[in-house]
Amino acid sequence: MSIQILPARLANQIAAGEVVERPASVVKELVENSLDAGATRIQIDIERGGHKLIRIRDNGLGIEKEQLTLALSRHATSKIKSLDDLEQIISLGFRGEALASISSVSRLTLTSKPENQSEAWQAYAEGRDMAVQISPASHPNGTTIEVVDLFFNTPARRKFLRTEKTEFHHIDELLKRIALSRFDVAITLKHNGKVVRQYRSQLQQENYVKRIAQVAGRVFEQQAVFVNSGDERLSLHGWVLPMGSKTEPQYTYVNGRMMRDKLIFHAIRQTFEEYAPGYEIPGFVLYLDIEPRQVDVNVHPAKHEVRFHQGRLVHDFIVQAVRQAISFEQPLIEPESNHLVQE
Ligand code: ADP
Ligand code: MG
Repeated sequence: MSIQILPARLANQIAAGEVVERPASVVKELVENSLDAGATRIQIDIERGGHKLIRIRDNGLGIEKEQLTLALSRHATSKIKSLDDLEQIISLGFRGEALASISSVSRLTLTSKPENQSEAWQAYAEGRDMAVQISPASHPNGTTIEVVDLFFNTPARRKFLRTEKTEFHHIDELLKRIALSRFDVAITLKHNGKVVRQYRSQLQQENYVKRIAQVAGRVFEQQAVFVNSGDERLSLHGWVLPMGSKTEPQYTYVNGRMMRDKLIFHAIRQTFEEYAPGYEIPGFVLYLDIEPRQVDVNVHPAKHEVRFHQGRLVHDFIVQAVRQAISFEQPLIEPESNHLVQE
């Protein structure tokens, strides 16, 4: 057996297995790129649940013509240069893999115009070696990425796509979580040409509740208790809904990044156990902010989980913070009735 270097496209397709699971994961990577580019407006167009088309347009920094080819190459990123940068990462992306991966399993066009460039240019990668074709285009300041026919060349993956409705639902849910990570950014979501969600930019903190209500519903907005603890080194703020149905959002963010971290969820559950044994806390939207050096975000390809250097300390801090927020006069549970006490 001889050892061979894999063609670029195949190497990218293998990497794509880790980051591109379904249309919603494409949307996640592209929207995070828009946010990293400083966009204040992001428009998302989906056709047929993302099977047919995923188009993300932003008004961010854009990509210069000379950099378009690089943007589509693997391990090419503008976000980190050294290990030291990785240890204090603040951008959402850093692996330089998303565009290369997505374009290896779809027909992807990247159109962009930075403010200081008079014309827009478009890039398209194709073939085994992913040779990039560049052509002139028309586009306002910012970037549009169009992903057509996702998984057209990887039938095994395509088979795992669910119905359009299900895939769109995943995209919608994902964008709800993103919408609560950046209240300042306006986000529009269209499906098959129809506006499905419109999150307006909220710059004033007192208006955040509008978006909370839009995403989490009126009950959450009206009954959630406010969490606010800590200092600039470690803090937790947000909302916890102590009562209600279990379909409420359970969103957590670490340094602005959406996470489903076991340690955080465990800490929240443990706190609630004290008040209502046997019950799970119905809903929460919580933002943990910690010194970037105290956390490793590079443990999961899709970055769903983090590793805290002082996990115990973070865990106990969350327990404290949530406990303080839901410290009612009496426990939530009535000993005789064994039901949650309603207000
Ligand atoms: P990463 O986000 O990890 O850097 P990506 O493959 O997602 O890797 O993107 C590669 C590079 O392309 C980014 O580092 C960035 O410089 C550029 N880029 C991608 N999307 C955008 C965008 N919407 N606006 C401006 N630049 C972008
Ligand atoms: Mg990225």
